Amino acid sequence: MAQRVLIVGASVGGATAASTLRAAGIETILLERELVKPKPCGGAVPPAAFHEFDIPQSLIDRKVKNCLIVSPSDQHVNVPVAGSTPGSDDYVAMVRREVFDHWLRDRAVAQGAELVHGTLTGLTITDRGVRATYHTPSDPTGPEQFIHADVIIGADGAYSPTAKLLGLPPTKRAIAIQERIMLPPEKMARWQDTADLYLGYDVSPDFYGWAFPKYDHITVGIGAGPSNSQQARALLANMKARLGSALEGGTLKLREAHALPMEPRKQMAFDRAMLIGDAAGLVVHTSGEGIYWAMKSGQMAAQVLTQHLDAPTAKNLRAYERQWWRTYGTMYGFLRWLEWWGYGNERQMEVFTEMCANKDVQRLTFDSYMHKRMAPAPWLTQMRMTGDILVSEVRHHFLPRRPVVA
Ligand SMILES: Cc1cc2nc3c(=O)[nH]c(=O)nc-3n(C[C@H](O)[C@H](O)[C@H](O)COP(=O)(O)OP(=O)(O)OC[C@H]3O[C@@H](n4cnc5c(N)ncnc54)[C@H](O)[C@@H]3O)c2cc1C
Repeated sequence: MAQRVLIVGASVGGATAASTLRAAGIETILLERELVKPKPCGGAVPPAAFHEFDIPQSLIDRKVKNCLIVSPSDQHVNVPVAGSTPGSDDYVAMVRREVFDHWLRDRAVAQGAELVHGTLTGLTITDRGVRATYHTPSDPTGPEQFIHADVIIGADGAYSPTAKLLGLPPTKRAIAIQERIMLPPEKMARWQDTADLYLGYDVSPDFYGWAFPKYDHITVGIGAGPSNSQQARALLANMKARLGSALEGGTLKLREAHALPMEPRKQMAFDRAMLIGDAAGLVVHTSGEGIYWAMKSGQMAAQVLTQHLDAPTAKNLRAYERQWWRTYGTMYGFLRWLEWWGYGNERQMEVFTEMCANKDVQRLTFDSYMHKRMAPAPWLTQMRMTGDILVSEVRHHFLPRRPVVA
Protein backbone atom coordinates (compact mmCIF):
# COMPACT_ATOMS: atom_id res chain seq x y z
CA MET A 1 0.00 0.00 0.00
CA ALA A 2 1.23 3.55 -0.74
CA GLN A 3 2.61 5.43 2.24
CA ARG A 4 0.54 8.33 3.54
CA VAL A 5 1.30 11.30 5.70
CA LEU A 6 -1.30 13.10 7.79
CA ILE A 7 -0.68 16.79 8.44
CA VAL A 8 -2.78 18.41 11.18
CA GLY A 9 -3.23 22.12 10.44
CA ALA A 10 -3.38 23.53 6.91
CA SER A 11 -1.99 26.97 7.65
CA VAL A 12 1.37 28.27 6.39
CA GLY A 13 3.49 25.46 7.87
CA GLY A 14 1.14 22.58 7.10
CA ALA A 15 0.41 23.71 3.54
CA THR A 16 4.15 24.09 2.80
CA ALA A 17 4.88 20.63 4.19
CA ALA A 18 2.02 19.22 2.07
CA SER A 19 3.36 20.85 -1.12
CA THR A 20 6.83 19.48 -0.43
CA LEU A 21 5.48 15.95 0.14
CA ARG A 22 3.28 16.09 -2.95
CA ALA A 23 6.24 17.24 -5.05
CA ALA A 24 7.90 13.96 -3.95
CA GLY A 25 4.75 12.03 -4.92
CA ILE A 26 3.73 11.11 -1.37
CA GLU A 27 0.06 10.65 -0.51
CA THR A 28 -0.81 13.52 1.83
CA ILE A 29 -3.87 14.40 3.90
CA LEU A 30 -4.37 17.85 5.41
CA LEU A 31 -6.73 17.93 8.39
CA GLU A 32 -7.88 21.48 9.18
CA ARG A 33 -10.59 22.60 11.59
CA GLU A 34 -11.00 26.20 10.35
CA LEU A 35 -11.32 26.93 6.64
CA VAL A 36 -12.77 30.45 6.79
CA LYS A 37 -11.57 32.59 9.72
CA PRO A 38 -8.04 33.97 9.22
CA LYS A 39 -5.21 33.25 11.65
CA PRO A 40 -4.70 36.42 13.77
CA CYS A 41 -1.39 37.78 12.50
CA GLY A 42 0.50 40.97 11.60
CA GLY A 43 1.31 39.35 8.26
CA ALA A 44 4.90 40.65 7.85
CA VAL A 45 6.81 38.24 5.59
CA PRO A 46 10.44 38.47 4.39
CA PRO A 47 11.14 38.52 0.62
CA ALA A 48 13.08 35.25 1.00
CA ALA A 49 9.76 33.43 1.49
CA PHE A 50 8.51 34.48 -1.95
CA HIS A 51 11.62 33.13 -3.70
CA GLU A 52 12.16 30.01 -1.64
CA PHE A 53 8.57 28.82 -1.71
CA ASP A 54 7.72 30.08 -5.19
CA ILE A 55 4.91 32.39 -4.09
CA PRO A 56 3.54 35.08 -6.43
CA GLN A 57 4.09 38.72 -5.50
CA SER A 58 0.42 39.36 -6.27
CA LEU A 59 -0.32 38.12 -2.72
CA ILE A 60 1.50 41.13 -1.26
CA ASP A 61 -0.74 43.99 -0.07
CA ARG A 62 2.11 46.44 0.45
CA LYS A 63 5.87 46.47 0.36
CA VAL A 64 7.24 48.23 3.42
CA LYS A 65 10.38 50.23 2.59
CA ASN A 66 10.71 52.16 5.80
CA CYS A 67 10.40 51.25 9.48
CA LEU A 68 9.73 53.85 12.14
CA ILE A 69 11.08 52.79 15.54
CA VAL A 70 9.76 54.77 18.52
CA SER A 71 11.43 54.47 21.93
CA PRO A 72 9.73 54.65 25.36
CA SER A 73 10.72 58.33 25.64
CA ASP A 74 9.37 58.98 22.11
CA GLN A 75 12.68 59.13 20.24
CA HIS A 76 11.85 58.48 16.57
CA VAL A 77 14.29 56.62 14.32
CA ASN A 78 13.51 56.03 10.65
CA VAL A 79 15.16 52.93 9.27
CA PRO A 80 15.19 52.32 5.52
CA VAL A 81 14.57 48.67 4.64
CA ALA A 82 17.85 47.95 2.82
CA GLY A 83 20.52 45.27 2.99
CA SER A 84 24.24 45.49 2.23
CA THR A 85 23.60 45.38 -1.52
CA PRO A 86 20.56 47.59 -2.13
CA GLY A 87 18.15 46.17 -4.69
CA SER A 88 14.53 45.80 -5.70
CA ASP A 89 14.29 42.93 -3.23
CA ASP A 90 14.62 45.25 -0.25
CA TYR A 91 11.22 45.23 1.43
CA VAL A 92 9.07 43.66 4.10
CA ALA A 93 5.98 42.12 2.50
CA MET A 94 2.63 42.76 4.16
CA VAL A 95 0.05 40.06 3.53
CA ARG A 96 -3.42 39.25 4.82
CA ARG A 97 -3.46 35.72 6.15
CA GLU A 98 -6.90 35.03 4.72
CA VAL A 99 -5.37 35.56 1.27
CA PHE A 100 -1.90 34.11 1.86
CA ASP A 101 -2.94 30.92 3.69
CA HIS A 102 -5.73 30.15 1.23
CA TRP A 103 -3.35 30.41 -1.69
CA LEU A 104 -0.82 28.03 -0.05
CA ARG A 105 -3.57 25.59 0.88
CA ASP A 106 -5.17 25.71 -2.59
CA ARG A 107 -1.77 25.05 -4.16
CA ALA A 108 -1.24 21.98 -1.96
CA VAL A 109 -4.68 20.68 -2.93
CA ALA A 110 -4.02 21.38 -6.63
CA GLN A 111 -0.83 19.33 -6.23
CA GLY A 112 -2.89 16.42 -4.99
CA ALA A 113 -3.12 16.78 -1.21
CA GLU A 114 -6.49 15.73 0.21
CA LEU A 115 -8.05 18.41 2.43
CA VAL A 116 -10.29 17.12 5.23
CA HIS A 117 -12.37 19.60 7.22
CA GLY A 118 -12.22 18.37 10.81
CA THR A 119 -10.80 18.78 14.33
CA LEU A 120 -8.22 16.27 15.57
CA THR A 121 -9.48 14.63 18.77
CA GLY A 122 -7.39 11.51 19.29
CA LEU A 123 -4.17 9.83 18.24
CA THR A 124 -2.76 6.34 18.54
CA ILE A 125 0.72 5.52 17.30
CA THR A 126 1.91 1.92 17.04
CA ASP A 127 4.72 0.08 15.23
CA ARG A 128 2.33 -0.35 12.32
CA GLY A 129 1.20 3.24 11.86
CA VAL A 130 -0.81 6.23 13.01
CA ARG A 131 -4.54 6.27 13.72
CA ALA A 132 -6.04 9.73 14.17
CA THR A 133 -9.63 10.49 15.13
CA TYR A 134 -11.45 13.69 14.29
CA HIS A 135 -14.83 15.38 14.40
CA THR A 136 -16.35 17.12 11.42
CA PRO A 137 -17.56 20.69 12.18
CA SER A 138 -20.99 19.90 10.69
CA ASP A 139 -21.44 17.07 13.23
CA PRO A 140 -19.30 17.96 16.30
CA THR A 141 -21.12 15.56 18.64
CA GLY A 142 -21.55 12.82 16.06
CA PRO A 143 -19.42 9.71 15.77
CA GLU A 144 -15.67 10.22 15.39
CA GLN A 145 -14.08 9.66 12.00
CA PHE A 146 -10.72 7.96 11.46
CA ILE A 147 -7.65 8.56 9.35
CA HIS A 148 -4.88 5.97 9.04
CA ALA A 149 -1.42 7.11 8.02
CA ASP A 150 2.23 6.14 8.30
CA VAL A 151 3.38 9.42 9.87
CA ILE A 152 1.69 12.46 11.41
CA ILE A 153 3.02 16.03 11.17
CA GLY A 154 1.70 18.42 13.83
CA ALA A 155 1.36 21.83 12.14
CA ASP A 156 -1.43 22.83 14.48
CA GLY A 157 -0.05 25.98 16.07
CA ALA A 158 0.84 27.24 19.53
CA TYR A 159 -1.66 25.01 21.39
CA SER A 160 -0.73 21.99 19.24
CA PRO A 161 -3.27 19.23 19.96
CA THR A 162 -0.87 16.86 18.20
CA ALA A 163 1.88 17.63 20.74
CA LYS A 164 -0.63 17.22 23.56
CA LEU A 165 -1.80 13.85 22.22
CA LEU A 166 1.84 12.79 21.94
CA GLY A 167 2.00 13.37 25.71
CA LEU A 168 4.23 16.46 25.54
CA PRO A 169 3.86 19.25 28.11
CA PRO A 170 2.51 22.64 26.93
CA THR A 171 5.14 25.23 26.01
CA LYS A 172 5.28 28.67 27.66
CA ARG A 173 3.16 31.04 25.59
CA ALA A 174 2.90 34.77 24.99
CA ILE A 175 -0.24 36.47 23.72
CA ALA A 176 -0.46 38.83 20.75
CA ILE A 177 -3.52 40.97 20.20
CA GLN A 178 -4.29 43.31 17.33
CA GLU A 179 -7.03 45.42 15.77
CA ARG A 180 -7.63 45.93 12.08
CA ILE A 181 -8.53 49.59 11.62
CA MET A 182 -9.93 51.13 8.43
CA LEU A 183 -8.55 54.65 7.94
CA PRO A 184 -9.67 57.51 5.71
CA PRO A 185 -7.37 57.79 2.63
CA GLU A 186 -5.55 60.89 3.91
CA LYS A 187 -4.62 59.01 7.12
CA MET A 188 -3.80 55.79 5.28
CA ALA A 189 -1.23 57.71 3.18
CA ARG A 190 0.95 57.90 6.32
CA TRP A 191 1.39 54.10 6.08
CA GLN A 192 1.84 53.90 2.32
CA ASP A 193 5.09 51.95 2.65
CA THR A 194 5.93 52.39 6.33
CA ALA A 195 5.56 50.13 9.35
CA ASP A 196 5.84 51.37 12.94
CA LEU A 197 7.38 49.58 15.92
CA TYR A 198 6.81 51.09 19.38
CA LEU A 199 8.87 50.18 22.43
CA GLY A 200 8.01 50.81 26.07
CA TYR A 201 6.49 49.20 29.15
CA ASP A 202 3.22 51.00 28.40
CA VAL A 203 2.74 49.10 25.09
CA SER A 204 4.70 45.92 25.70
CA PRO A 205 6.95 45.13 28.68
CA ASP A 206 8.26 42.08 26.82
CA PHE A 207 8.25 42.75 23.07
CA TYR A 208 6.89 45.72 21.07
CA GLY A 209 3.77 47.28 19.64
CA TRP A 210 3.24 47.57 15.90
CA ALA A 211 1.24 49.34 13.22
CA PHE A 212 1.44 47.44 9.93
CA PRO A 213 -0.20 48.57 6.67
CA LYS A 214 -2.50 46.33 4.64
CA TYR A 215 -4.14 47.21 1.34
CA ASP A 216 -7.12 49.13 2.82
CA HIS A 217 -6.44 49.14 6.58
CA ILE A 218 -3.73 48.96 9.21
CA THR A 219 -3.25 46.42 11.97
CA VAL A 220 -2.30 47.83 15.36
CA GLY A 221 -1.12 45.27 17.87
CA ILE A 222 1.07 44.34 20.83
CA GLY A 223 2.72 41.21 22.16
CA ALA A 224 2.72 40.39 25.89
CA GLY A 225 4.74 37.70 27.65
CA PRO A 226 3.18 35.17 30.06
CA SER A 227 3.38 37.47 33.10
CA ASN A 228 1.70 40.38 31.28
CA SER A 229 -0.87 38.60 29.12
CA GLN A 230 -3.74 39.61 31.47
CA GLN A 231 -2.98 43.22 30.59
CA ALA A 232 -2.94 42.71 26.82
CA ARG A 233 -6.09 44.76 26.13
CA ALA A 234 -4.90 47.67 28.26
CA LEU A 235 -1.49 47.59 26.56
CA LEU A 236 -3.21 47.67 23.16
CA ALA A 237 -5.25 50.70 24.27
CA ASN A 238 -1.99 52.40 25.27
CA MET A 239 -0.51 51.57 21.88
CA LYS A 240 -3.45 53.23 20.14
CA ALA A 241 -3.10 56.24 22.44
CA ARG A 242 0.54 56.58 21.39
CA LEU A 243 -0.47 56.58 17.74
CA GLY A 244 -2.87 59.39 18.70
CA SER A 245 -4.20 61.56 15.87
CA ALA A 246 -2.80 59.20 13.23
CA LEU A 247 -5.82 56.96 13.94
CA GLU A 248 -8.43 59.74 13.89
CA GLY A 249 -11.46 58.90 11.74
CA GLY A 250 -10.56 55.18 11.85
CA THR A 251 -13.15 52.44 12.27
CA LEU A 252 -12.57 49.10 13.91
CA LYS A 253 -12.89 46.22 11.45
CA LEU A 254 -11.78 43.30 13.60
CA ARG A 255 -10.11 42.60 16.95
CA GLU A 256 -8.19 39.33 17.12
CA ALA A 257 -5.72 37.59 19.43
CA HIS A 258 -3.77 34.37 19.57
CA ALA A 259 -0.96 32.72 21.49
CA LEU A 260 2.68 32.63 20.43
CA PRO A 261 5.08 29.96 21.71
CA MET A 262 7.90 31.40 23.81
CA GLU A 263 10.55 28.80 23.14
CA PRO A 264 11.37 25.90 20.81
CA ARG A 265 10.54 22.39 21.93
CA LYS A 266 13.54 20.33 22.95
CA GLN A 267 12.42 17.52 20.65
CA MET A 268 10.63 18.03 17.32
CA ALA A 269 10.62 14.48 15.93
CA PHE A 270 9.38 11.21 17.45
CA ASP A 271 8.45 7.72 16.28
CA ARG A 272 6.13 8.38 13.31
CA ALA A 273 5.55 12.01 14.34
CA MET A 274 7.06 15.43 13.68
CA LEU A 275 6.23 18.95 14.85
CA ILE A 276 6.72 22.10 12.77
CA GLY A 277 6.15 25.87 13.05
CA ASP A 278 4.42 27.16 16.17
CA ALA A 279 3.68 23.58 17.26
CA ALA A 280 7.47 23.13 17.56
CA GLY A 281 7.85 26.58 19.17
CA LEU A 282 9.74 28.04 16.20
CA VAL A 283 8.95 31.76 16.57
CA VAL A 284 11.63 34.43 16.79
CA HIS A 285 10.60 36.94 19.44
CA THR A 286 12.84 39.86 18.58
CA SER A 287 10.54 40.34 15.59
CA GLY A 288 7.62 38.06 16.62
CA GLU A 289 8.24 36.32 13.33
CA GLY A 290 6.81 32.85 12.77
CA ILE A 291 5.44 32.63 9.22
CA TYR A 292 8.75 32.07 7.45
CA TRP A 293 9.93 29.68 10.17
CA ALA A 294 6.74 27.64 9.98
CA MET A 295 7.09 27.33 6.20
CA LYS A 296 10.80 26.53 6.36
CA SER A 297 10.38 23.93 9.09
CA GLY A 298 7.45 22.42 7.15
CA GLN A 299 9.63 22.12 4.07
CA MET A 300 12.64 20.76 5.96
CA ALA A 301 10.61 18.22 7.96
CA ALA A 302 8.90 16.99 4.78
CA GLN A 303 12.23 16.66 2.96
CA VAL A 304 13.73 14.60 5.79
CA LEU A 305 10.57 12.50 5.96
CA THR A 306 10.72 11.60 2.27
CA GLN A 307 14.09 9.95 2.97
CA HIS A 308 12.82 7.90 5.92
CA LEU A 309 9.25 6.93 5.09
CA ASP A 310 10.22 3.25 5.08
CA ALA A 311 11.52 3.50 8.66
CA PRO A 312 10.04 6.63 10.30
CA THR A 313 11.62 6.06 13.72
CA ALA A 314 12.47 8.90 16.09
CA LYS A 315 16.15 8.18 15.46
CA ASN A 316 15.77 8.69 11.70
CA LEU A 317 13.31 11.59 11.82
CA ARG A 318 15.42 13.57 14.28
CA ALA A 319 17.71 14.30 11.33
CA TYR A 320 15.20 17.15 10.81
CA GLU A 321 16.05 18.63 14.21
CA ARG A 322 19.76 18.31 13.66
CA GLN A 323 19.53 19.94 10.24
CA TRP A 324 17.35 22.73 11.66
CA TRP A 325 19.71 23.72 14.44
CA ARG A 326 22.79 23.31 12.24
CA THR A 327 21.26 25.76 9.76
CA TYR A 328 19.59 28.26 12.09
CA GLY A 329 21.05 27.69 15.57
CA THR A 330 23.52 30.58 15.40
CA MET A 331 20.94 33.04 14.08
CA TYR A 332 18.37 31.91 16.62
CA GLY A 333 20.85 32.19 19.49
CA PHE A 334 21.86 35.69 18.38
CA LEU A 335 18.24 36.86 18.10
CA ARG A 336 17.44 35.44 21.56
CA TRP A 337 20.37 37.39 22.94
CA LEU A 338 19.22 40.54 21.10
CA GLU A 339 15.75 40.17 22.58
CA TRP A 340 17.16 39.80 26.10
CA TRP A 341 19.55 42.69 25.57
CA GLY A 342 17.25 45.11 23.71
CA TYR A 343 13.89 44.58 25.41
CA GLY A 344 15.13 43.79 28.92
CA ASN A 345 14.05 47.13 30.42
CA GLU A 346 13.15 50.61 29.19
CA ARG A 347 16.71 51.87 29.41
CA GLN A 348 17.79 49.10 27.07
CA MET A 349 14.83 49.87 24.79
CA GLU A 350 16.18 53.44 24.46
CA VAL A 351 19.64 52.06 23.62
CA PHE A 352 18.07 49.56 21.20
CA THR A 353 16.22 52.41 19.42
CA GLU A 354 19.40 54.48 19.14
CA MET A 355 21.27 51.43 17.89
CA CYS A 356 18.71 51.25 15.05
CA ALA A 357 20.02 54.61 13.77
CA ASN A 358 23.45 53.03 13.16
CA LYS A 359 23.82 52.33 9.43
CA ASP A 360 25.80 49.12 9.98
CA VAL A 361 23.16 47.80 12.35
CA GLN A 362 20.45 48.65 9.81
CA ARG A 363 22.22 46.80 7.01
CA LEU A 364 23.01 43.74 9.13
CA THR A 365 19.48 43.60 10.54
CA PHE A 366 17.80 43.68 7.16
CA ASP A 367 20.30 41.31 5.53
CA SER A 368 19.42 38.80 8.24
CA TYR A 369 15.68 39.45 8.21
CA MET A 370 15.13 39.64 4.46
CA HIS A 371 17.47 36.89 3.31
CA LYS A 372 17.58 34.71 6.42
CA ARG A 373 21.30 34.45 6.74
CA MET A 374 23.69 35.82 9.32
CA ALA A 375 25.36 38.68 7.48
CA PRO A 376 29.11 38.87 8.20
CA ALA A 377 30.30 41.95 10.11
CA PRO A 378 33.92 42.95 9.39
CA TRP A 379 35.93 43.97 12.47
CA LEU A 380 35.81 47.70 11.60
CA THR A 381 32.01 47.50 11.42
CA GLN A 382 31.91 45.67 14.75
CA MET A 383 34.12 48.34 16.36
CA ARG A 384 31.88 51.14 15.05
CA MET A 385 28.74 49.42 16.31
CA THR A 386 30.25 48.64 19.70
CA GLY A 387 31.41 52.26 20.08
CA ASP A 388 27.92 53.62 19.30
CA ILE A 389 26.29 51.15 21.68
CA LEU A 390 28.67 52.01 24.54
CA VAL A 391 28.04 55.74 24.12
CA SER A 392 24.31 55.13 24.14
CA GLU A 393 24.52 52.81 27.17
CA VAL A 394 26.37 55.47 29.16
CA ARG A 395 23.92 58.22 28.10
CA HIS A 396 20.91 56.20 29.23
CA HIS A 397 22.45 54.59 32.28
CA PHE A 398 20.89 57.00 34.78
CA LEU A 399 17.36 56.99 33.30
CA PRO A 400 14.83 56.11 36.03
CA ARG A 401 12.95 52.86 35.48
CA ARG A 402 9.18 53.05 35.07
CA PRO A 403 6.82 50.39 36.36
CA VAL A 404 4.63 48.53 33.86
CA VAL A 405 1.73 50.89 33.06
CA ALA A 406 -1.54 49.36 31.96
C1 LIG B 1 -1.36 38.74 16.62
C2 LIG B 1 -0.21 38.02 15.96
C3 LIG B 1 0.61 38.71 15.08
C4 LIG B 1 1.64 38.03 14.41
N1 LIG B 1 2.37 38.70 13.47
C5 LIG B 1 3.31 38.05 12.74
C6 LIG B 1 4.00 38.70 11.68
O1 LIG B 1 3.76 39.88 11.38
N2 LIG B 1 4.91 37.98 10.96
C7 LIG B 1 5.20 36.67 11.26
O2 LIG B 1 6.05 36.07 10.60
N3 LIG B 1 4.55 36.02 12.26
C8 LIG B 1 3.61 36.67 12.99
N4 LIG B 1 2.91 36.00 13.97
C9 LIG B 1 3.22 34.57 14.21
C10 LIG B 1 2.57 33.71 13.11
O3 LIG B 1 1.20 33.99 13.01
C11 LIG B 1 2.76 32.22 13.44
O4 LIG B 1 4.10 32.00 13.83
C12 LIG B 1 2.44 31.34 12.22
O5 LIG B 1 1.10 31.49 11.83
C13 LIG B 1 2.70 29.86 12.57
O6 LIG B 1 2.25 29.07 11.51
P1 LIG B 1 1.86 27.53 11.76
O7 LIG B 1 1.52 26.99 10.41
O8 LIG B 1 2.91 26.87 12.56
O9 LIG B 1 0.58 27.56 12.72
P2 LIG B 1 -0.76 28.38 12.64
O10 LIG B 1 -0.69 29.45 11.61
O11 LIG B 1 -1.11 28.77 14.03
O12 LIG B 1 -1.80 27.31 12.12
C14 LIG B 1 -2.21 26.21 12.87
C15 LIG B 1 -3.38 25.57 12.14
O13 LIG B 1 -3.77 24.39 12.83
C16 LIG B 1 -5.18 24.32 12.87
N5 LIG B 1 -5.58 23.48 14.02
C17 LIG B 1 -5.36 23.72 15.33
N6 LIG B 1 -5.88 22.74 16.08
C18 LIG B 1 -6.44 21.83 15.21
C19 LIG B 1 -7.12 20.60 15.38
N7 LIG B 1 -7.36 20.06 16.60
N8 LIG B 1 -7.54 19.94 14.29
C20 LIG B 1 -7.32 20.45 13.04
N9 LIG B 1 -6.68 21.61 12.82
C21 LIG B 1 -6.24 22.30 13.90
C22 LIG B 1 -5.60 25.79 13.04
O14 LIG B 1 -6.95 26.00 12.66
C23 LIG B 1 -4.60 26.49 12.13
O15 LIG B 1 -5.07 26.61 10.80
C24 LIG B 1 1.89 36.65 14.67
C25 LIG B 1 1.08 35.97 15.59
C26 LIG B 1 0.04 36.63 16.23
C27 LIG B 1 -0.83 35.87 17.19
